[in-house]
Amino acid sequence: MAALDLPFARARHDRAAARRDTPDLLERLCADPATRVLVLHGDRLAVVGDPARLAVVGPAGLPAPLDASPTPPPHLDAADDPADAPRDAPREEGPPLWLFLGEHDGVAYTALAAPQTTSALAMLSAAAADAADAGEPRGVAWATLRELDALDDLHQGLATQAVALANWHAVHAFCPRCGAPTRVRDAGWVRWCPVEDRELYPRTDPAVIMAVVDDADRILLGHAAHWPAARFSTLAGFVEPGESLEQAVRREVAEEAGVRVGAGADDVVYRGSQTWPFPASLMLGFRARVEGVGADVTPDGVELTDVRWLTRAALSAALASGDVVLPPRLSIARALIEEWHGGRLPGA
Ligand SMILES: [Zn+2]
Repeated sequence: MAALDLPFARARHDRAAARRDTPDLLERLCADPATRVLVLHGDRLAVVGDPARLAVVGPAGLPAPLDASPTPPPHLDAADDPADAPRDAPREEGPPLWLFLGEHDGVAYTALAAPQTTSALAMLSAAAADAADAGEPRGVAWATLRELDALDDLHQGLATQAVALANWHAVHAFCPRCGAPTRVRDAGWVRWCPVEDRELYPRTDPAVIMAVVDDADRILLGHAAHWPAARFSTLAGFVEPGESLEQAVRREVAEEAGVRVGAGADDVVYRGSQTWPFPASLMLGFRARVEGVGADVTPDGVELTDVRWLTRAALSAALASGDVVLPPRLSIARALIEEWHGGRLPGA
């Protein structure tokens, strides 16, 4: 089987990782009018137009990077317990954060994570006023990656990288071991603890997601308590420490649906992966086989409140009647379900 073609896995640019430790890289790029900049605030990107496209601007008028080393850490309001905040809550204060994303066709791409929407808007206005392509951006709006389903592959790749990296910075203002404020290095790809002289690297959390099928080639879909009514999707869950991907697939299916995936090497087959920066996941997609036909399934009642085996005809009928609504096209779940079905299914 060919690997799945996934919306968040089509990046076109070169991350040019070897350039990240170039002295003053960001300062040099900011002085070069050819550099392109994506502006974001929290998990929202500056966009223009309808359908929305990224508001990519030149560096003129934008605040220059602070002296790259040391860069003060993002400031967290002491009154706020980060644990109480939404997981993707943007930082409300602190300096803008520049990130080197890479290059494409000889053009360098960066991202500027602004601490506030208002400051981000001011930056964009200044950039537009100074930019050679003045007039762009006009009518700036803010959109999350989930709302941007019409980006071309280059911009999709840059946007997912920018959001994923900014999400990491947002929760690593302090060293996880000693609690010291950390500083940004390597054009946004390292945070450094000055107390321990220790470097911290961006992390991503692996999660498995699986199209579970039986010997009659029916698919197992579940409904989670916090989802919109009628939303059904594949089972999924985070990989636990000390666990292989295949073990995680088997454990999650057993926990969430009460059925056992076969023990054979061919019973768990890798299908593809894509980033899912909400806030920091890497989704690893699998096809998993449960022996027999229509094995008894029981939702765990915590994560899943309903779980069903569906034939292709039953799924088509349920989609037509509205009894089942599938996850959006950006998701790997949708790709896994459509791959099983053998073609595109209706619905956004
Ligand atoms: Zn430390």
